Amino acid sequence: MDAASPTAFTMNETLLRQDCGGRLPTGLLKGAAQMFYIVDPADTTFKNPEDVPFIFRQAWPYFLAFLIVENILLWLENKPTLRLNDGITSLSHGLFQECGRLVFRGAENAAYIYVYSHFRITDLPWDSPVTWYLSVIGVDFCYYWVHRACHEVHILWAQHQVHHSSEEFNLAVGLRQSLLQGWCSFIFYLPLALFIPPSLFLTHQQFNLLYQFWIHTNTVKTLGPLEWVFNTPKHHRVHHGCNLYCLDKNYGGFLIIWDRLFGTFAEEREKEEIIYGLVYNQPTFNPLYLQVFYNNHVIEKWHQMDGWQNKLAAVWKGPSWLPGRPRLGADEDKLDIRTREKYDVKLPMWCNIYLTLHFIAVTIGFQELTVQYMGMNPFAVLGFVAYILLSLTTIGMLFDNHPNACVFELARCLMFIMYIQKKEVEVAGDLKLSILQLFFILSVCFWTLKCMKVLQIKVKIK
Ligand SMILES: [Zn+2]
Ligand SMILES: [Zn+2]
Repeated sequence: MDAASPTAFTMNETLLRQDCGGRLPTGLLKGAAQMFYIVDPADTTFKNPEDVPFIFRQAWPYFLAFLIVENILLWLENKPTLRLNDGITSLSHGLFQECGRLVFRGAENAAYIYVYSHFRITDLPWDSPVTWYLSVIGVDFCYYWVHRACHEVHILWAQHQVHHSSEEFNLAVGLRQSLLQGWCSFIFYLPLALFIPPSLFLTHQQFNLLYQFWIHTNTVKTLGPLEWVFNTPKHHRVHHGCNLYCLDKNYGGFLIIWDRLFGTFAEEREKEEIIYGLVYNQPTFNPLYLQVFYNNHVIEKWHQMDGWQNKLAAVWKGPSWLPGRPRLGADEDKLDIRTREKYDVKLPMWCNIYLTLHFIAVTIGFQELTVQYMGMNPFAVLGFVAYILLSLTTIGMLFDNHPNACVFELARCLMFIMYIQKKEVEVAGDLKLSILQLFFILSVCFWTLKCMKVLQIKVKIK
């Protein structure tokens, strides 16, 4: 039996092994080109789903390099650079999504593999460039409908809104993703499973998402004729705007042709400043809150509606829908936002340095988890992930200067020290862990004084 056949391995094996897949060809130039979907089909064609690399996770060094370049360009142009609180919140959402990937282990793709195994209508050769290019187009076409549904179906918007929750538009926003995005979208890709092999689907789904990172920037104004075919920063700025003309427009992933074909395209207006963020923006940097808060709005709308038809419509029709109005709501009921003061909390310099160092510590912890988790007990993985999510949430609360943040931070630092105490033998020989331990002990001392009101943080809230 051909090893490429999905019946040659069990689905569970595929899903688990997919996490430790292969690697992409190395080289700085190839790595950077990959961020723009400029790749050689020969280098990026894999026989089995378990051979497909974790393209998105391997790209983190490039994300950071691109972020640095973007901020140098902004600084040279005398434009506002990344705000620390908003930037770290965006990166925290990126880690939320990655943690979700560690826990779910590609389970959301099980349906795709099942449909391909049992219902495919043809066996396209997995190593043919024609299949490769067909996959590029097919995945992007489905992504258009996934993304459109995420804006036009209230319960899906409740998850996707995270991506739109920043009042800034920069590369970091490209990493601001929903933990549950994969579960919102898998069903839309199933028609592809009738003919596209799973390994090609998994590869191009990742490249498509990777391409969408660089289009979150104000540093690129226009790309001339490329604007006709490809999704670009110019088109995606419109997608992130909450001005009335920007709402429900430019859903494309890699290509913009779908928007032009299906009537959802809008050209950027040079004379109208785009205001970024949600129509009803949330004044918080707490990533956990931003991930989940909107679900309450859906539940509230459900309760407010009379009759089953209206209740169901509150869930599946557009976020702006009201009884007696069109599916996506009427323009006269929507706000046209033209100006807005951005939410900000000015913390003292030492506090920003403290939060940056702790965010780096969380990132190191996450990196450690990605290396070790395949050999770990699933409950230990869950515990590790919960600690990372708690840490990112507490960092967000501190950026908000939330009144309970210091108690949470004290508890979080104590938890880490207690955990390290249990692993004392391993710590003795590990310089990195010893430094982290000292850092957390100093943090505990500080937050104890803060909780006892011996110290205060002076802030300015806009
Ligand atoms: Zn969107
Ligand atoms: Zn975006």
